[in-house]
Amino acid sequence: MKAISVLGSTGSIGTQTLDIARDFPDQYKVVALTAGRNLALLVEQIQEYRPEVVALADTALLPELQKRLKAAGVDEAATPQLVGGPDGLNVAASWESADLVVTGIVGCAGLLPTLAAIRAGKDLALANKETLIAAGPVVLPELKKSGSRLLPADSEHSAIFQCLQGTPWADNARLSTGVPTPGLRRIQLTASGGAFRDWDARDLEKATVADATSHPNWSMGRKITVDSASLMNKGLEVIEAHYLFGLDYDHIEIVIHPQSIIHSMIELADSSVLAQLGWPDMKLPILYCLSWPERQETPWRRLDLTEVGQLSFRKPDPAKYPCMELAYAAGRAGGTMPAVMNAANEEAVAQFLEEKIHFLDIPVVIEAACERHKTDLIDHPQLDDVLAVDQWARQAVREQVSRGTRRMPAVLAA
Ligand code: NAD
Ligand code: MG
Repeated sequence: MKAISVLGSTGSIGTQTLDIARDFPDQYKVVALTAGRNLALLVEQIQEYRPEVVALADTALLPELQKRLKAAGVDEAATPQLVGGPDGLNVAASWESADLVVTGIVGCAGLLPTLAAIRAGKDLALANKETLIAAGPVVLPELKKSGSRLLPADSEHSAIFQCLQGTPWADNARLSTGVPTPGLRRIQLTASGGAFRDWDARDLEKATVADATSHPNWSMGRKITVDSASLMNKGLEVIEAHYLFGLDYDHIEIVIHPQSIIHSMIELADSSVLAQLGWPDMKLPILYCLSWPERQETPWRRLDLTEVGQLSFRKPDPAKYPCMELAYAAGRAGGTMPAVMNAANEEAVAQFLEEKIHFLDIPVVIEAACERHKTDLIDHPQLDDVLAVDQWARQAVREQVSRGTRRMPAVLAA
């Protein structure tokens, strides 16, 4: 029986993790939950999973949660310890009885709870990629110190991790230490191409929030769905792969694979390429984190390639997806630059979702923030440096947006 904590339990990753816990009650027990604002769902989760501790991001919502639990008939004995705010999230993330922490919080907000879990020596199922991207130089040494293992829940990185298990270099001690696996020569990250995969680049002028938030293959939270449409998600995953598997950026490539059946590939010293395949369903990579190094028997739908019919691949067009290049550039610059790029992207996507900027403005404001940061870049940042540049970049984007530097798409101006 493995005890798990689920950070961001009301989100896409969180609810899928809890579905797995429901399906395999003899294997996984939920001991801690954290959530943002969805109290109705959280109350249901508390009733079903009976965690030992529950944290809310916003302390002000705790009395309301208490009231709702009482109204739902949850008696005192069944009420978990309730905590809130940044300290509360850290308490839940480092909860003593947990063996593994699933990080399903979205954005850099997941950084401090993730570090709390690592410092408490917990193994992690890392879904919250923004944490590693913003703070790779801080997170990797902490992992080394505590001995925590960072198991990738992102489907592409899970695929790479699964393929590596089949090589002589499946040295688990090397997991996410930043040291390259000796026989690993190249990583190919597959990308669905997102909501605008089949759009002509010129038509992106007409892209709306509704267009950008409807993903062809995966059902995910809104932020990552927009990141998929801009291919920033794949750019972020390139940096994530760099920190997890230690390869330099020239050996991490992106390939558009519209069917999302191959979840990524690795090339080895002898030129052999290994791939991991499956239906596009996040439950499989999440389950692998929970069951690793074992394989759990499941009744899940088996992959039938004759049903898929065709697997196709193409190179992504850099002109259509400028965010991809911005991510490579930030990764190569290293230090605090990925944190700036990530924070600028988070803010830009939030502004886009509020319809304050156009989809095509997203790379424009990110690039401006990264340009401005060049002279202030810190090569070997500490945690405080990462937190400071994260705040700076968000503010820089907000200021740029409020100055009205918004480019007006011709179609709207007409
Ligand atoms: P989501 O928006 O569906 O859920 C986010 C969760 O985090 C919710 O429980 C929300 O309450 C909580 N949260 C939001 N802001 C918070 C804050 N400031 N403090 C504390 N908690 C907060 O997002 P998601 O799609 O589940 O994605 C979660 C993470 O997993 C992201 O980093 C994403 O990139 C990554 N990821 C998601 C998928 C997917 O299929 N959804 C796949 C790969 C990676
Ligand atoms: Mg992914």
